[in-house]
Amino acid sequence: MESYSKSYDVIVVGGGNAAFSAAISAREKGMGVLVVEKGSQDKRGGNSYFTDGAIRMAYGDLEGLRSVYSDLKDEDYDRVDMPVYGEKEYYDDIMRVTNGKSEPALAKVLTSQSYPTIKWMQSHGVEFIVNENQYFEKDNKMSFWGGLPVKTYQKGIGLMTAWWKRADELGVDVLYNTKGTSLVKSDNAITGLVVEQDGKEMQIDTKSVILACGGFEASEQKRMKYIGDEWKNAVVRGTEHNTGDGLDMAIEAGATPIGDWSACHAHTTDYNAPRVGDFEKPGDIYKKSSYPLGLIVNNEGVRFVDEGADFRNYTYAKYGKETLKQPEQKAFQLYDQKVRPLLRVEYELEEASVVKADSLEELAEKMNVPKEKFLETIHTYNASVQEGDYDPSVKDGKSTKGLTPAKSNWALTFDEAPFYAYPVTCGITFTFGGIKVNDQAEVLDSEEQPIGGLYAAGEMVGGLFYENYPGGSGLMSGAVFGKLSGETAATYVESVTTKA
Ligand SMILES: Cc1cc2nc3c(=O)[nH]c(=O)nc-3n(C[C@H](O)[C@H](O)[C@H](O)COP(=O)(O)OP(=O)(O)OC[C@H]3O[C@@H](n4cnc5c(N)ncnc54)[C@H](O)[C@@H]3O)c2cc1C
Repeated sequence: MESYSKSYDVIVVGGGNAAFSAAISAREKGMGVLVVEKGSQDKRGGNSYFTDGAIRMAYGDLEGLRSVYSDLKDEDYDRVDMPVYGEKEYYDDIMRVTNGKSEPALAKVLTSQSYPTIKWMQSHGVEFIVNENQYFEKDNKMSFWGGLPVKTYQKGIGLMTAWWKRADELGVDVLYNTKGTSLVKSDNAITGLVVEQDGKEMQIDTKSVILACGGFEASEQKRMKYIGDEWKNAVVRGTEHNTGDGLDMAIEAGATPIGDWSACHAHTTDYNAPRVGDFEKPGDIYKKSSYPLGLIVNNEGVRFVDEGADFRNYTYAKYGKETLKQPEQKAFQLYDQKVRPLLRVEYELEEASVVKADSLEELAEKMNVPKEKFLETIHTYNASVQEGDYDPSVKDGKSTKGLTPAKSNWALTFDEAPFYAYPVTCGITFTFGGIKVNDQAEVLDSEEQPIGGLYAAGEMVGGLFYENYPGGSGLMSGAVFGKLSGETAATYVESVTTKA
């Protein structure tokens, strides 16, 4: 096999947020760094490129955000009502939504390092702004909810553009159209990476490898094998390149698989969204996130989840899966004129599929669902709605009574024309199964021992998310474990270099 002309201290496999966090962190420590990205230059950046840029950190209180926001003017701070959100709240959220299954040591790293990592990202040119989807105007105040008040400037596109620029400035080498295929080891330590480029294999010598090449959500075969046959039909919301290659490579090299291999993050997405993420239309424009304010029915006109169980940030990652279980994997989000003005920006886009009607009967016809059943669902729901103060910025407890499934918050009657129905299906975002790493991002073998010079970051880290996940944690986890893996790899490389 051909050998590449140059050797490296650190090779990072993957080209998303976790990969570039790792590459820049290692480069900052003086390492010679190569990033190997499977995508072409037109299809680079992974799922990170497709994101809304929402990023969850333990900011503490509003003061903690002053040096983070680049767009909020001093005079606007008086108008902000910001709940406290520190390490404890973040950690508790992870444990709550994963039913206590998240690996405590990893959750601790993520939550404790989130804020310092945001400051580090800023120091490398990543810009953060107000997350406009996470507050409601109330008594002339911006009332934030859900622990996610920050997003990256220009979403995932802005994030990745900042990383590419910085990597270039720092002298990180990047190979596009290059797929990592296997790890080369000697005496239980990494010595190289085999890659495939233009159909040709070559070996690149290196002292360490950081695997940051995502999960297996874009592999139809692996989705069916690990998550279930029905996942064949899921829309892939992000890159086509995340087919689990890094997981295969790591396991083949002795890494321990861990975490929730049978589960994934999935979101309700526009029924007519592209079947796989379109790099010409990034920005997460097909998701549909305002359902806690409305109702969801399936193709038979029947409700199947508690739309108002919690804020969207804590239910959306699992409601995609519920949609997949419905006939034809199809559902409709319903809103009447009372709540229509409160919907998020994605409902305004020309890409949004919608039917609009002046009566419930007309709506059922346009949705092509059984009219009698649909009307019964709506009338039964309306009759069960309890009195109470409606407030979308808090869990208002305005609920239904005697209805299954209940609507536990934000239950308003559905009775004010015009009525809107948005057809949705299940879009898979990323998979939860990964490989075992310790709190230094070192990849562990079956004896719980680090494999010399092998690290993992981002979606490849197993054991953090089970069943569900607090929105905005994917980017944060990628950055935290990316930065950490770069630092640990640099320390390792220095130690083996000194010994030599
Ligand atoms: C539509 C959408 C919206 C989202 N919105 C948010 C959000 O607002 N906030 C949030 O926190 N999370 C969000 N997520 C989740 C988020 O994208 C991920 O959690 C995060 O980006 C993972 O980062 P990563 O670097 O691990 O993976 P990725 O960004 O997916 O990067 C993986 C990289 O590896 C490359 N690769 C794959 N195989 C190989 C190989 N064999 N060799 C070389 N390279 C390879 C891929 O091309 C890609 O560049 C969203 C995801 C999607 C799809």
